[in-house]
Amino acid sequence: MKRIGLLGATGSIGVQTADIIRKHPEQFKLFAMAFGRNVEEALPIINEFRPEIVVVQDAEVKESLKRQGYNGIIYIGTEGMYEVATHPNVDVVVNAVMGSVGLSSTLGAIEANKQVALANKETLVTAGHLVMDAAKRNNVSILPIDSEHSAIHQCLNGESKNDANKIILTASGGSFRDKKREELENVTVEDTLNHPNWSMGAKITVDSATMMNKGLEVIEAHWLFDMPYEQIEVIQHRESVIHSMVEYVDKNVMAQLGTPDMRVPIQYALTYPNRLELNQTKTLNLVEIGTLHFEKMDFDRFPCLRLAYEAGRVGGTMTTVLNAANEQAVALFLNSEISFLTIETLIERALEAHEAIEHPDLETIQRVDKETRKLVKSYVK
Ligand code: NDP
Ligand code: MG
Repeated sequence: MKRIGLLGATGSIGVQTADIIRKHPEQFKLFAMAFGRNVEEALPIINEFRPEIVVVQDAEVKESLKRQGYNGIIYIGTEGMYEVATHPNVDVVVNAVMGSVGLSSTLGAIEANKQVALANKETLVTAGHLVMDAAKRNNVSILPIDSEHSAIHQCLNGESKNDANKIILTASGGSFRDKKREELENVTVEDTLNHPNWSMGAKITVDSATMMNKGLEVIEAHWLFDMPYEQIEVIQHRESVIHSMVEYVDKNVMAQLGTPDMRVPIQYALTYPNRLELNQTKTLNLVEIGTLHFEKMDFDRFPCLRLAYEAGRVGGTMTTVLNAANEQAVALFLNSEISFLTIETLIERALEAHEAIEHPDLETIQRVDKETRKLVKSYVK
């Protein structure tokens, strides 16, 4: 029985993780859960799974939860999530919160020697070197939930990493893949949230449309698999059937295929190195799909992908700025304060304004993150 600490329980990944736990009560127990402010979504999960600890974003949410009749243990904020991530009764930490707010919990879980199932890619983009150093030092494996990285992880299973020539990440293209740049001038939040293949949280759906999601994933792959940026390629693949590939020195290419259902990589991260039945997802039917398409990525059409490669190559705090500027810009867009195309303009400005600091410690990263958000907000005032 694995006891799970689930951070981000009310989100898209969180709810699907709860579903995996529900289907395998003899394998998993939801020991603790954290969420932000969505009490309505949280209550049914709390009532069904009866976790021993619940973490909420702030005191106001705590009061609201109590008013609704919950009288168990409630912790607050990032400190509360850290408590869960390091709790002696937690075996696996699933980090599925949105944004760099998940960083300290990831680091805590690693230092406490937990199995870490990571959906929170911002953790690796903002501070990949700290996370991977800690993982190495504590001999902890970080199991990716992100479907592309789960694919690469599986393609590398039993192989020597040195034999891998190249990682090939596939990109669905997001909500606007068939639109030209000129057609993006007036797209709305609603248009953007309409993703063709995957149903996900709002921020990552916007990231998919700007292609920043793939940019973040390039950096995520760089850290997780210790691969130089020159050996990470992105290709567009609209069907999202091949989730990613590894090309080896002998020209063998390994690919992982599946239906677009996040419960598959979530469950694999929970059961690794073993597998469990997963009956609720559709079996991949290649005959029904018939044809798979692949296209070259256009860096002019998707400047965010270019910015991510550039920031990744500079390294240090440059990717912290990339991530924080993106989080802030996307929040402004979702709040209808800026247009879709302004997202990339603000990120590029923040990157240009920044002088990268090499090998930053946690404090420096948190300071740069905060300053970047402030700077990006000041651009639109
Ligand atoms: P959602 O927006 O659906 O969920 C985010 C979760 O984080 C919610 O539970 C939210 O709580 C919680 N949260 C947000 N801010 C805070 C905070 N300050 N303190 C505590 N909790 C907070 O996001 P997704 O599930 O889509 O994505 C989560 C992570 O997984 C992201 O890093 C994303 O990139 C990654 N990912 C997601 C995929 C997907 O299919 N959705 C695929 C691959 C990766 P509340 O809503 O209650 O406020
Ligand atoms: Mg992904």
